[in-house]
Order: sequence, then structure tokens, then C-alpha cells
Amino acid sequence: MFDNLSDRLGGVFDKLKGRGALKEQDVRDAMREVRIALLEADVALPVARRFIDAVTEKAVGQEVLKAVSPGQQVVKIVHDELVRTLGGDPDDPQSSMAGEGLILEAKPPVVIMMVGLQGSGKTTTTAKLGKLIREKHGKKAMMASLDVNRPAAQEQLAVLGEQVDIATLPIVAGQQPVDIARRAMESARLQNFDVLLLDTAGRLHVDAALMAEMKAVSQVSTPTEVLLVVDSLTGQDAVNVAKSFTDEVPLTGVVLTRMDGDARGGAALSMRAVTGKPIKFAGTGEKLDAIEPFRPGSVADRILGMGDVVSLVEKAAATIKEEEAEQLAKNFEKGKFDLNDLRMQLKQMQNMGGLGMLAGMMPGMKKAKAAMAASNMDDKVLVHMDAIIGSMTAKERAHPGVMNAKRKKRVAAGSGTDVQTVNKLLKMHQEMGRAMKQIKKMGGLKGLAAMFGG
Ligand code: GDP
Repeated sequence: MFDNLSDRLGGVFDKLKGRGALKEQDVRDAMREVRIALLEADVALPVARRFIDAVTEKAVGQEVLKAVSPGQQVVKIVHDELVRTLGGDPDDPQSSMAGEGLILEAKPPVVIMMVGLQGSGKTTTTAKLGKLIREKHGKKAMMASLDVNRPAAQEQLAVLGEQVDIATLPIVAGQQPVDIARRAMESARLQNFDVLLLDTAGRLHVDAALMAEMKAVSQVSTPTEVLLVVDSLTGQDAVNVAKSFTDEVPLTGVVLTRMDGDARGGAALSMRAVTGKPIKFAGTGEKLDAIEPFRPGSVADRILGMGDVVSLVEKAAATIKEEEAEQLAKNFEKGKFDLNDLRMQLKQMQNMGGLGMLAGMMPGMKKAKAAMAASNMDDKVLVHMDAIIGSMTAKERAHPGVMNAKRKKRVAAGSGTDVQTVNKLLKMHQEMGRAMKQIKKMGGLKGLAAMFGG
């Protein structure tokens, strides 16, 4: 998700962070690059412009430029502005991490009307939401397809309904959308369903007939939510579609599908600013559980490559021994990360599903992951690494800086590996240590936790 944008921004900020002091011109130069990155990500021009203006204004302030780590501060300012652009409030991390949920508290059946163009993923999303409403909200949902245009659309929903075990309204051939909506309301009421999901007809383009139909359906079903489903891969087109719908029907939110394949992120970043509507969910795959609440805070973290530290900590907490976890966390807070810590982590990595999994969750992960891929590292390597650290003296483990050519040779022989592998391990340790220091600068785990509302 957002890989291209993430890489581009990462490059800009690495340059900024690499310097001790920053001048106003450095920030302005960096912002020019960020602006290009945003435009290449297909962010709408006015949104990119506003973003850059807001960030620049805050970042060229004397306090930032005089701070101990100005580069880091600029990243924080960009992060907060990303959260805002995505529809969150960086001063209220809790809400930014929770996202805007569904409004389900109304007299049942609560109606959720799904609208969108053909092929946007509307029918799939309807089924995903039916499942989510049962699993996350504990409510009983019924689905009905009002799509009489596309052949077999109603059958498609019925098939998906069976897959996720969500009831669908029986199909009556020849019935028109407004009448189907009425029948669905009646049926949901009689059978005590909490929620009724109406999958309306898609079209290839936004047209008058479609809008008239949406309005008529909305009048008879008085939906609590009108969710527009758009394909994030279509970038600014998705935003334009949303804009035309917004002018016609009272949308309460947007679902962005195919976020799993969206390397750019333009639709997500422009949507709120252009339409004023919150993105409520992200579709992240074809499977029927591939839907996530859209959390502006978490998406901003991912874009800046500092994403899943919280998930990592949560996952670690669930799998590793409590004392070890505490020790690691303590060291982490102190900024200590020597080879003993690395060894402890390597063991835990094995328990947690291996290297690839973990590298994906580490901060600064892109580089570490690339380094691993480049060196063909797999889980066998974990065993080698453990052997290498095992062959070191206590002093070497605590102060890896002392490792010279002679020591490396000895350790390679002792562990049955070679000097190259020893070097790889030392390099990886360095990368990880650097990433940890970065987190520490941002306020450590506690600071991060606070940002995430913990
Ligand atoms: P509709 O015409 O708008 O109802 O679109 P469908 O629900 O039939 O979806 C069209 C295609 O997109 C199907 O093959 C879905 O599996 C796929 N799809 C829907 N949502 C997602 C998503 O979030 N990610 C991915 N990768 N595919 C999706």
C-alpha cells in the first residue's frame, strides 16, 4: 500500500534527517520534492498545494529550525498534516486511530445504501460489510441487490451472501429498484434484522438516470449511511466520481477499494479535502474479510514508513515471554540495542513467524527488508546468526564496534560461517539500531504509544 509514495518521501526525509542543522532553504527544497512526490502520487493539485503551504509555514518556524533534531521535527509536522488531510485530528490520536465507524444506532432496520460505478467493488464490499457488521458489531444484517441493469448482479450478491452466511432478499424477476427496496425494508422489519444493506445499481458513468434512481431509493429507504464505493487505483478519477455523487446524493462516507494494489495513494489523500466526506473503510483484497476501518493516523504512519511499530509491539507482547519483553522494552527506552538484544530478538522472530514477517513490521523496514532480500536471507539464517553471536565474547556482544578483521575471522570459524555472513549480521544490527534510535527521538515507545492513543 502506497509503496511508491512512501519510498519517495522516505528519500526526501533521509536527506533532511542526515543533517544536524537546517536552514529555511533546506526545508523549502525538501517541500518542493514532497510536492512533486504528491503530484506523482496523483494527489489533486489544490490538495497538494494546501498541504505544502501548511507544512512549510510550520516547518520554517524558528523553533523547528533551532531544535536539536530539526529533520525529525519536519517529519512530525508532515505526519500530522497527512493525518489532517486524511480526515483525522493529530491532536486527538485516539480518534485518528479509530477511524470513523458506521452509524448503526437507529431504529432497526438501519439502512446502509451502497452506491458506486460498475466494477468499483460495490457488491463485494456489500458482502464484506455484512460480515463485518456481524463479527465486529454483533448485529444481524440482510443484503438486497437493487441492480437490475447488470445481468446476474442479484445472483452474485446471493452467492456472496451464502459464502459469508449473510441472508439476502429472495430475487423476484422483473421487479424494479424502488419496489425491491420497499420489499427489502418490509422483509428486514418482519424478520427482525438490525441492518439492511442495499446494493444499488452501478453504471459505467455517472448519469442522470442513475442519480434519479439513487434519489428515489434513498427516499423510500431513508438510509442512515450512504456509502460510495470507489476504486482507489483510479486515483483522481475516483475523487471526481465522488465529487459528482456528493452533489447528488447525501453521502455519509466513502469506501476505497483495491488499496492493496494502490502504490500511489492519490485517491486516499485527496478524497476528504475535495469531497468533504470521510473515508470510512479500505478494501484490501478480494477475500471477504479484506476490509479495514480507514484510520487516518495509521495510514499516515504507513506512508511515512513508521507504521506498524504498534502492531509489532502488540504481536511481540502476545508471543514472547513477559520478562524478556520487559527487558527489551527497557533497553529500547534507553536506546540500548547490542548484540545480546539482537540475539533475544532473533529467537523471538523465530517464534513470531520468521524474518520476512517481522522485517515488514520494523520501523525503517524498507531498507532492512531490501537488505535481507538482497542477501537472500531466509529463516535458516536465523540459526546462523544465533551461532555467530554465540561465538562472540561478552565484550564483543555488548560492544560490536570492537569487531575487527581478526575477531571476525575467529567468530566466523567458531560459528561455522564465513566473514561475509558475520559482516551481514553486523550490518543488520546497525540498521536496526539506527531505526530504534529514530523511534527514540520521536519520544520512544511511550511517545509512539501516546500518538496511537495507548
Ligand atoms: P461491482 O461491479 O462494483 O459490484 O464490483 P464487484 O464487487 O463485482 O468487484 C469487481 C472485482 O473487484 C471483483 O473481482 C472483486 O473481487 C474485486 N475487488 C473488490 N474489492 C477489492 C479490493 O479491495 N481489493 C482487490 N484486490 N480486489 C477487489
